[in-house]
Amino acid sequence: MQDSNSALEQLFATDGPLSTRLEQFSPRHEQVAMAKAVAAAVLSDETLVVEAGTGIGKTLGYLIPVLQLGKRALISTGTRALQDQLFQRDLPLAVAAVDQPIRAALLKGRGNYLCHYRLERTLEAGRFETRQTADLLQRLRIWAGRTHSGDLADFPDEAVPGRVQPMVTSTADNCLNQDCPFYSDCFVMKARREAQDADVVVVNHHLLMADWAIREGGFGEVLPSVDVHVLDEAHQLPEIAGRFFGMVLSGRQLSDLGRDVRLEQLREAGDAGHLADLASELERASADLRLALGDDCRDAWARLPRESNAPQAALDLLAVIYALVQALEPQAPRGTGLESCYRRMQAVHADLQRFLHGGDADADADYVRWVETVGTGYRLRLTPLDVAGPFTAGRARNPGSWIFTSATLSVRDQFDHFTNRLGLQDAQTCRFDSPFDYRSNALLYVPDGIPTPSEAGFIDAYLDRALEVLKISGGRAFMLFTSHRALQMAAQRLRAERVEPLLVQGDANPQRLLDQFRERGNAVLLGTQSFWEGVDVRGPALSCVMIDRLPFGSPGDPVLQARIDWFREQGRNPFADLQLPDAVISLRQGVGRLIRGPEDRGLLVVGDHRLLTKSYGRVFRESLPPVPLTRDPAAVADFFS
Ligand code: SF4
Repeated sequence: MQDSNSALEQLFATDGPLSTRLEQFSPRHEQVAMAKAVAAAVLSDETLVVEAGTGIGKTLGYLIPVLQLGKRALISTGTRALQDQLFQRDLPLAVAAVDQPIRAALLKGRGNYLCHYRLERTLEAGRFETRQTADLLQRLRIWAGRTHSGDLADFPDEAVPGRVQPMVTSTADNCLNQDCPFYSDCFVMKARREAQDADVVVVNHHLLMADWAIREGGFGEVLPSVDVHVLDEAHQLPEIAGRFFGMVLSGRQLSDLGRDVRLEQLREAGDAGHLADLASELERASADLRLALGDDCRDAWARLPRESNAPQAALDLLAVIYALVQALEPQAPRGTGLESCYRRMQAVHADLQRFLHGGDADADADYVRWVETVGTGYRLRLTPLDVAGPFTAGRARNPGSWIFTSATLSVRDQFDHFTNRLGLQDAQTCRFDSPFDYRSNALLYVPDGIPTPSEAGFIDAYLDRALEVLKISGGRAFMLFTSHRALQMAAQRLRAERVEPLLVQGDANPQRLLDQFRERGNAVLLGTQSFWEGVDVRGPALSCVMIDRLPFGSPGDPVLQARIDWFREQGRNPFADLQLPDAVISLRQGVGRLIRGPEDRGLLVVGDHRLLTKSYGRVFRESLPPVPLTRDPAAVADFFS
């Protein structure tokens, strides 16, 4: 351990290899302390939960010790963008610094890789919505012969639109695996082989949880066995795990399946026209269910209105799926395509049956059955109320050390909320505060005279105060909202007041909005979840973060509602043990957008007086960085002057 600590000190030293490779490197004792804590956990095969405040350099704080100890590692992070950044920027730097031969691989979910089989089938079917789609598919085919990765993010011409992606990528359902005529050239299989051979594999939480969910079902392994698992942005895990340890059946899945039945019937069983008729019936029944659910639906299945036609429409859909299972069974031996459709149809039948009538797995687990409609689609979901059990089982199947890290894991310096959610009671925990000087460089302003968020007039009063602040700050602000409705009201008001440049979530893709925000230097950006975390804008372009209300989850959310009931049944306090800590973590994420570098200065505005007037407000305040507080607009003017 002593040797390892000395080596780490050398690597992070002023004259060390990181310093010579990183232009703005300066040694931070918090980063070295974090690296030592990670090394200790790795050497003793322990679980470590480590919170590293903004600016510590947590990525190198875990990469350097893991690589320096020569361990085989799996690094998982929150999004594909962070995954790319880690693989392309941080990992090569860390590998060069430790100066050891290390093979690294990047592995994404299969939906990111071009599938030769799907592309060829789509081209063969030959019916395209537009000429541009036909042209794009031809260019993808040419590119498929040149690319090494097959990762659609590397396609140089343009971003492949969402509606085209299912035509050229595979799903676990429709992949033919060894039966595929393109198996030896398959990009998904190639990426997985490279991951199996690598010393360090970079994945994202969605892929990791999907892998665990597959293994739980007894299917083959995708991710390699490693000595060390590092889960960055770990605060996102409970929510992501909930999605994967449950079940989802979507309208899109069914329409893809209907289309594939028709395609494969034409190719492999031209005389079985009744399959195409049934596929059309499937699409009709699925569309009927969508119609019965109505727009903007997000409800527990058991709480759908009495007069809803959705339960009957779902039963009708189940009957059509069953008829297709029966019809496909005798045709399946005629070709791999029909065989695959038969298996998929059986699987969706089992899922819908389980959703409507319950199944074996439901006997020993608590799930919430709920449904949501998004645009013209819908999803039927079974979500576990508690992910600690399956998460613990997943870790048990993957022995080695486990490092969970993020800038926001604790509430009032305590980790219980996070560790209980994931069943990590055995973990060591530690925190390293941000090295930034919040006392001098930041100010928290809670304006006077704004009603409680639940009262009439709240949003108007909040926007009055916000406009005053924007005049003083000269724009340069993120206005973050907890609901789309509030965001739309704000957009309307700010447009009427001619606030410019004004960037509103939904007007362009988030990356484009962020680029414009940085370029303009004096813009105001209105956003909800997409901008609440993972966004990094340094310098004066972002000098003010405004949050309308404390970010408690919506009580109308079916999963939250079911979890609240479940906590009550267990004699626990859902507000103190669930809603409050979740909201604290969200607020900390939003606040984390403000100060991104040692030179940054910024004003934090919270329009919700409960931060000061309610007893629980103290929990929020004591979980935030040490930012001075004011209710006086003159102090805001002073701060910017
Ligand atoms: S093996 Fe699966 S993913 Fe690969 S080309 Fe074939 S169908 Fe596509």
